[in-house]
Amino acid sequence: MNQPIKEPSFRESVDQMFNRAVSLMDLSPGLEEKIRVCNATYTVRFGVRLRGKIHTFTGYRSVHSEHMEPVKGGIRYSMGVNQDEVEALAALMTYKCALVEAPFGGSKGGLCIDPREYDEHELEQITRRFAYELIKRDLINPSQNVPAPDMGTGEREMAWIADQYKRIHTTDINGNACVTGKPLNAGGISGRVEATGRGVQFALRAFFRDSEGVKKAGLTGDLDGKRVIVQGLGNVGYHAAKFLSEEDGCKVIGIIEHDGALYNPAGLEVEKIRAWIGKHGGISGYSDSHHVDKGASVLEEPCDILIPAAMEGVINLNNADRIKANLIIEAANGPVTAGADQVLREKGVVIIPDMYANAGGVTVSYFEWVKNLSHIRFGRMQRRQEESRHQLLINELERLSKDKELGWTLSPGFKDKYLRGADELELVRSGLDDTMRIAYQSMADVWHGRDDVDDLRTAAYLVAIGKVAASYRAKGL
Ligand code: NAD
Repeated sequence: MNQPIKEPSFRESVDQMFNRAVSLMDLSPGLEEKIRVCNATYTVRFGVRLRGKIHTFTGYRSVHSEHMEPVKGGIRYSMGVNQDEVEALAALMTYKCALVEAPFGGSKGGLCIDPREYDEHELEQITRRFAYELIKRDLINPSQNVPAPDMGTGEREMAWIADQYKRIHTTDINGNACVTGKPLNAGGISGRVEATGRGVQFALRAFFRDSEGVKKAGLTGDLDGKRVIVQGLGNVGYHAAKFLSEEDGCKVIGIIEHDGALYNPAGLEVEKIRAWIGKHGGISGYSDSHHVDKGASVLEEPCDILIPAAMEGVINLNNADRIKANLIIEAANGPVTAGADQVLREKGVVIIPDMYANAGGVTVSYFEWVKNLSHIRFGRMQRRQEESRHQLLINELERLSKDKELGWTLSPGFKDKYLRGADELELVRSGLDDTMRIAYQSMADVWHGRDDVDDLRTAAYLVAIGKVAASYRAKGL
């Protein structure tokens, strides 16, 4: 049997991509190094008494860059968490925030734990204890460091963290802003749960509006009818697959999960499969005829768009040359290694890079943080005022439509649609769409405009690093 090819670590892989971009920039000596390095990584080991025995857990919070504060980045629960991984993810957060103009530095945290091994009460005890360790060192703090959900965590864990912070800082009126991704009834914002998957959809729509980019990927037309394979039907993968199939006419032909894959060129039912996973913990048993035991092999099936949305390093030097997708959108962080990136580029595969593709999460987290600091729901002041101004126009149009000489009428449904002022969810989606369009354009301008840049990832790094460097220069560094 062939030995797997050894590749650089996740952090080294991010550094290599960074280096590729800075070699095309003219940064002052030392600034390049300052931007690349991770400022600090805190490791904590703590004990929790569970089932009559003390269990020791290891967690991390890494701060990559404090050129803007607070720093921002998710907390991940997974057995694979380690220092190298959180540092790579924290660095990606710095570049991601810069690219989409969310005013944060980059951070990331993680706990080495398999959440499936614990019940809800145990997870609450563990989460509160981990949060306590970070809070007392200001590694969770509304003005310094604001976590969010990531792999293995969600609204529930964020609510525990916010509550733990408020127990310790009882008089901090901005306490809710210490973490984002909270449930709506605990200071969250509409649309945060779907945000990263929604962002993937908006990113693809932005891509398909760029005819030059579509041509470079060897594709034509729009999203309608495109064949999609998605890896990981968790928060990000599920929402992306759902919106693309329900709203843009894509056909999801492959779904890869931790216990195998489902593959059907005629299309798969995302909603039903998600419900099955929710009940059974995996896709096994869903369909004998479409089940593939070696799930990762489905990454290599022909498709138009491949969406790795599970974890890092899944497309690497061992499988890159067998990937047949025209377009890869990195919904997960770091799913393509630096080595695989090169192989795919040489093959002409277009990759929409993670720092842009999954920035929907941090973008809506930014809106949630602003909402928490302003203590008011978006749209609360203007919604009815907007509706009454629209009513004025409708009244006038209705008056004119009674005029037989003019002979026109309002289209059916127009009045209701026009009258309705935007609620928070609509405003959040609109803000996210705007963010994704602007960020895409900034990358595409570099991608199509510079002869020395032949991929979107390098373009994204150039834009992001340029912004971080400008912010350091403004500080006099
Ligand atoms: P999640 O825990 O909700 O989902 C991950 C899914 O991947 C699960 O369904 C899991 O069963 C599956 N999975 C695990 N190992 C797998 C394997 N070997 N093969 C196939 N599937 C596997 O996590 P998530 O929040 O959806 O995050 C997924 C990725 O997206 C991560 O890389 C994360 O850093 C990134 N991301 C998440 C957010 C967010 O808002 N949640 C934001 C930005 C980036």
